[in-house]
Amino acid sequence: MTTGDADDDFSGVTGAATRRATRAAVVRYGARIVQVGGGAPIVIQSMTNTDTADAIGTAIQVKDLARAGSELVRITVNNPEAAAAVPAIREQLDRMGVDVPLVGDFHYNGHKLLTDFPACAQALSKYRINPGNVGQGAKRDTQFAQMIEIACRYDKPVRIGVNWGSLDQALLARIMDENARRSTPRSAQAVMYEALVTSAIENAVRAEEIGLPADRIILSCKVSGVQDLIAVYRALARRCDYPLHLGLTEAGMGSKGIVASTAALSVLLQEGIGDTIRISLTPEPGGDRTREVIVGQEILQTMGLRKFTPMVIACPGCGRTTSTTFQELAESIQTYLREQMPVWKKDYPGVEGMNVAVMGCIVNGPGESRHANIGISLPGTGETPAAPVFVDGEKTVTLRGENIAVEFQAIVLDYVKSHYAPGHIAA
Ligand code: SF4
Repeated sequence: MTTGDADDDFSGVTGAATRRATRAAVVRYGARIVQVGGGAPIVIQSMTNTDTADAIGTAIQVKDLARAGSELVRITVNNPEAAAAVPAIREQLDRMGVDVPLVGDFHYNGHKLLTDFPACAQALSKYRINPGNVGQGAKRDTQFAQMIEIACRYDKPVRIGVNWGSLDQALLARIMDENARRSTPRSAQAVMYEALVTSAIENAVRAEEIGLPADRIILSCKVSGVQDLIAVYRALARRCDYPLHLGLTEAGMGSKGIVASTAALSVLLQEGIGDTIRISLTPEPGGDRTREVIVGQEILQTMGLRKFTPMVIACPGCGRTTSTTFQELAESIQTYLREQMPVWKKDYPGVEGMNVAVMGCIVNGPGESRHANIGISLPGTGETPAAPVFVDGEKTVTLRGENIAVEFQAIVLDYVKSHYAPGHIAA
């Protein structure tokens, strides 16, 4: 064991400096420009689960996702009614002042819908094409080309989105045949990985041959297993410099979906792989779709890759806290911070990087609170009923009584106004 004089290099631990070099693909709507790759901040995206033919219901959910922080929103375009509704969704969003670019998700009939509904093709800012679901046999190449030609005509970027649940079976058969001829055939798992990566790259090359510029192409290869996703994206990143859309498909419900997505994405993001992310959570019945956006933001922010909203650091509590006071304070301050952000991010630039600590007792409370911009150490069981507040590492006031939450909130607001107003110069 080595201690004390060890010479570890702790530089570059944020991972932000190790982004993989990629081309940039730009997705635009009006004056709104979202750059994916090329060193741009990692883009958060999401997808609606409304019936796209319900233009009003879909526009409302798109608005909610955009307001939560989704920088691109994908909608399924699965039939003529959905395609016909897309321009109406765009118009409704315009009326609501929402300029988030819309991505159309196509399977099986995309070539026909994009041809028959030119207003849909125009209203969308990007198309997602699943090369495993474009058609069979000879029709496959024609229908794929038809979609790419429409993307060229309307100057839209395309995500070539491979999914192992709908992998191109002809391509898989070809890779299996090639594998069987090898002197040492690879495992069935390796063949599957190879088929996913090959499908994405061959279709990207094909799209370029048809005329789609390389900087209009984003790739994804989604699978539902954590180790599978890591293996596939490492290979994809080694073999191309297209921007990559990263996400664990069918991640699942609740904590399992969050944990699996976080485990897979954090390994890859730390290696600089991934230019836009989507967290594919299954909402509980009646659950809030915007959760997938918040989880995506929290992954990026806790990894130090982007900042979206002030972070609340709270201890888990233990036997030293026999009341729920500190849990309630942590929750109320977190909700307060998130609710203020739509206004704060305009009025107080940089506030998204603020840290607030809410701690349950004297053991770690003062220490952790000193590391935060603002911290409060609540009294644990048997401690004097007083809550010291720390601002920029210095103890400033001690709160007591019933109104600690309200008074602490006021201290946070004062701090924001005095430290993040334009023109403020940090000490
Ligand atoms: S800070 Fe205090 S209450 Fe919180 S987990 Fe540590 S010992 Fe327990």
